Amino acid sequence: MKPDVIIVGAGFAGAVIAERYANDSNKNVLVIEKRNHIGGNMFDYIDDNGVRYHEYGPHIFHTNSKDVVDYLSKFTEWYPYEHRVLGVIEGKKVPIPFNLTSIEKCFDTEKAERLKEALVEAYGMDTKVPILRLKENENEEVKELADFIYENVFKYYTMKQWGLTPEEIDPGVTARVPVLVGRDDRYFQDKYQCMPKNGYTAIFENMLASEKIEIMLNTDAHEHVHVDLECNKVFYDEEEFTGPVIFTGAVDDLLNYQFGDLSYRSLDFDKQSHKGTYQEAATVNYPTPAEINGFTRITEYKLLMDTYPSDKTTIAVEYPLAYNRHSDRGNIPYYPIFTEEDKKKYESYCDKIKDISNLHLLGRLADYKYYNMDQIVARALMIYNKIK
Ligand code: FAD
Ligand code: UDP
Repeated sequence: MKPDVIIVGAGFAGAVIAERYANDSNKNVLVIEKRNHIGGNMFDYIDDNGVRYHEYGPHIFHTNSKDVVDYLSKFTEWYPYEHRVLGVIEGKKVPIPFNLTSIEKCFDTEKAERLKEALVEAYGMDTKVPILRLKENENEEVKELADFIYENVFKYYTMKQWGLTPEEIDPGVTARVPVLVGRDDRYFQDKYQCMPKNGYTAIFENMLASEKIEIMLNTDAHEHVHVDLECNKVFYDEEEFTGPVIFTGAVDDLLNYQFGDLSYRSLDFDKQSHKGTYQEAATVNYPTPAEINGFTRITEYKLLMDTYPSDKTTIAVEYPLAYNRHSDRGNIPYYPIFTEEDKKKYESYCDKIKDISNLHLLGRLADYKYYNMDQIVARALMIYNKIK
């Protein structure tokens, strides 16, 4: 098949574009994927325990976008699921995001009443306050509470996750899990929260089912696609390719690291099998110092499913580590770190390719942004409509 469109990467960014070009524009699409499977970081499968396991970390679907739900509903049925997370604080397991119930679990009744009152008075009921903003409050009681939450929820978790303190990373990162002045104990407050009935991989199989889509697995894009910065052209197997090329991998990789490596954080998953049920919630966070627990969180996968085996269970213990593309460990760029220096480097890469009109960057890696899957789907639909 002679492709009209080339897509690098079979995660959500690549799959949405491939599906749209094949089914909406009737184009021949070539998807090049270096892994041995489709789905990108959403890839899941049923393991030996009969549990649906997410190979690259726990993925929960949540969004406020009806358009994204409607679009994905063409490829899957759903079951309702609301994610709840507990965090280990001073040996107790309390709701995360930290909320009024968490205060009651961490302090004696009298003190808890005072702290709750001060918090509600400062921000109002059912509000969300990022920890770095809460820390700026000058009321003595609120400040004491802010310091407690900072120390026991954010400081060590963030240092383990990013290798940096909450002050050193983009404030948007810790603001993803704000302090909740209320009783809502769900991890996400989005309007739509659910899980795909047959898993994420099945969504990708359905999206990429068209005969007009050819998928080349186990293939690094560099084997076929070459960007020539002298003449601002893209070559496919040595021939100039003038159709759309959508690259969803890392831009420093695309341009052979000529401005240096962008910073990412990686993860190691310790997958374990146990009897019965392991913990009280699907995810338990360990915001404790690294000397006490080297990991950040444990996810028990069967608790994300609608039906599951009662006698066996599978958990993943998450150990963040520095990304190193040359190493056997930590060679997957899971999280863009985007310090100011990295943002500048990223812009230099984008600047180099801005005059190649048929080359488009899209995705969590290519955009170098901490996007959730719904944001990637929405962005892919938008980019398709823009370039088609
Ligand atoms: P990816 O899924 O990373 O796909 C990119 C693909 O490109 C990969 O398959 C890669 O192998 C391929 N590729 C890269 N370079 C090349 C190359 N040179 N040649 C060939 N192929 C290449 N979002 C949520 O909404 N809810 C969650 O609960 C959630 N949990 C997450 C948990 C973790 C641990 C992580 C890391 C992310 C989580 N996310 C979550 C975010 C979600 O994973 C991403 O938004 C989504 O996977 C991004 O899709 P993508 O297509 O941009 O990237
Ligand atoms: N965070 C934290 N303690 C927690 C949960 C989150 O410090 O118990 C911070 C940490 O910096 C983390 C960020 O909030 O990286 C975003 O958390 P989220 O759960 O959204 O991370 P993800 O699921 O994307 O890894």
